[in-house]
Amino acid sequence: MTTSTPIEHITVLGAGTMGSQIAAVCALSGYRTTLVDIAEEPLEQAKAQLRARLERDVAKSRRTAEDVAATWQRLQFATDRDAVVATTDFVIEAAVEDLAIKRQIFASLDAVAPAHAILATNSSNIVSSQIASATHRADKVCNMHFFNPALVMKCVEIVPHDGTSPQTMERTRALAESLGKEVVQLNREIPGFVANRLLNALRKEALNLIDQDIASPADIDKAARDALGHPMGPFELMDLVGLDVVYLIRLAEYEQTKEESSLPHPQIKQLYEAGRFGRKSGRGWYDYASA
Ligand code: NAD
Repeated sequence: MTTSTPIEHITVLGAGTMGSQIAAVCALSGYRTTLVDIAEEPLEQAKAQLRARLERDVAKSRRTAEDVAATWQRLQFATDRDAVVATTDFVIEAAVEDLAIKRQIFASLDAVAPAHAILATNSSNIVSSQIASATHRADKVCNMHFFNPALVMKCVEIVPHDGTSPQTMERTRALAESLGKEVVQLNREIPGFVANRLLNALRKEALNLIDQDIASPADIDKAARDALGHPMGPFELMDLVGLDVVYLIRLAEYEQTKEESSLPHPQIKQLYEAGRFGRKSGRGWYDYASA
């Protein structure tokens, strides 16, 4: 086994919003894939959601029934992480956004994964240098950042830390391209990477405009949609992503940068504390209860 061993078996860790769809993307692209979680429940939920999703795709003639049947043959669901990882060529970690947990996961992965296996994290914000030092294979650790929903969104950001080897970058890029993704490759790491930093800049300015009472969230969203051609405005997007997620991502970024400007905006904090998480709770910047 060498660093050029072909990728045959991919392990995706964490069967939540991201992991379940990333695993489906891998299996649909022909890879034997195992989706691993710490409990059966998220795996069962992921299986049911993917089944419904792929059946819908067949009904709408987006995929053939044969393709979907072959995909299910390639996709396994498991809780016995170590046994799965022992035979894997590439791990995509999509567990909770918590540095301590990710470091623990990577240390365990490093202990059991074959020497050639690349360990990538799908973290939205945590740069891989913070995780790589928990392993003895820092050269094979990088960020591989998919976007939500991973079955639909084309972009994958690939980010090296100082010690990531060029071979790891090449192999990760080749994998992403073989999944039908468009790769945005960063030269070096920065929290938030590229796309979310652009988004944050827009969000910051939108919040600045409401702080000054220049315009309402609805009018700012309208400007983003109807003047800039964005599919939705920054407030609508926060409601879709979840204000709980937005809040926690800001806190995680603050942990890395220690810059005041990384902290959640007071209005986001207020909405978070009031349980107004957006669409998922029926209310965020907008009220969905009456919709
Ligand atoms: P989620 O909460 O929906 O799912 C996380 C899953 O990880 C849960 O099923 C949980 O049981 C599982 N898990 C927890 N600890 C684990 C462990 N030790 N081993 C295996 N599984 C474990 O989270 P998500 O939204 O899918 O986010 C996952 C990662 O992807 C995070 O790092 C997040 O920053 C990143 N991300 C999220 C989005 C998004 O829009 N939600 C987009 C891009 C990247």
